[in-house]
Amino acid sequence: MMPVFLPDTLDAALDLLTRDPAACVMAGGTDLLVHLRATGDAPGPLVCLDRLRGLKGIKTDGDTVRIGAGVTMTELLASPVVRDFLPLLHRAAGVFASPTVRNMATIGGNLCTASPAGDTLPPLYVMNASVELRSPRGERTLPVDRFITGPRRTCLERDELVTAVTVPIPVDFDIHHFEKVGQRAAQAIAVVSLAALVALDGTTVHRARLAWGSVGPGIVRCSEAEELLEGQRLTLTNLRAAAAAVSNAVTPISDVRASADYRRQVAGNLLLRLAAL
Ligand SMILES: Cc1cc2nc3c(=O)[nH]c(=O)nc-3n(C[C@H](O)[C@H](O)[C@H](O)COP(=O)(O)OP(=O)(O)OC[C@H]3O[C@@H](n4cnc5c(N)ncnc54)[C@H](O)[C@@H]3O)c2cc1C
Repeated sequence: MMPVFLPDTLDAALDLLTRDPAACVMAGGTDLLVHLRATGDAPGPLVCLDRLRGLKGIKTDGDTVRIGAGVTMTELLASPVVRDFLPLLHRAAGVFASPTVRNMATIGGNLCTASPAGDTLPPLYVMNASVELRSPRGERTLPVDRFITGPRRTCLERDELVTAVTVPIPVDFDIHHFEKVGQRAAQAIAVVSLAALVALDGTTVHRARLAWGSVGPGIVRCSEAEELLEGQRLTLTNLRAAAAAVSNAVTPISDVRASADYRRQVAGNLLLRLAAL
């Protein structure tokens, strides 16, 4: 039987990770327990983060929002700060799994799993979020696109915890759009998702930040599509040109949820929605 620890402080949790190299971190367990059951792996002691008050809470701090790694999707969804200042993340939490999974799944777990289908990731990428980490050696902060190093890979050290994610409030943008295409309305992993921030000057695109989920080994930014839109009016014709660039840039796979061709087509098509906003 594997021992389960419920430390009360961050230092106690880090101490447990340092003492036993086989120790395994568990937040909500919605990825970890599925993985353990599927693989039959028997990890060392489980270090549960549930009681760490320091990983909870959502606060504004000047022009950023700091979200504790242990904040659940339900808490993101209920937060007026997230709703008012980070609407992309609010929408992502709203289409995440189902209420029961949302009650358990944390933003820190979503980051550490580093799945290209992780719903919070495209919003965090376009908002230039940073990940705060703590280990016995101290603290460090990394941009989210450096924290995640590949499909299901991060630069997290074995004795390190994600403590928070900090998100600059995207004040200069007129369009905040997140859309997830799944096989059904609830309990669906993204087949394709898009997070978009667009700043307009009248009807002309001044700046665009776009990120797609589930269409490559990681979250896909398409600078070519952003550049094609910038300086142009937000019309269907201009969006179609950018959509064609997106369809060329993505490298999706075929799996049980969708074919690569379908994903490529939908990745481009999702951009066309921006014309209707
Ligand atoms: C039925 C079902 C539906 C799902 N639907 C969706 C969905 O719609 N969208 C989506 O994006 N995902 C979905 N998922 C996947 C999962 O719910 C998310 O990835 C979730 O955010 C994981 O968070 P968690 O707190 O449960 O992480 P856990 O399972 O506890 O941990 C995941 C990994 O992260 C590590 N970890 C967690 N927190 C920390 C931390 N603070 N510091 C260091 N390491 C840490 C763990 O060691 C583990 O390796 C679904 C899962 C299930 C079972």
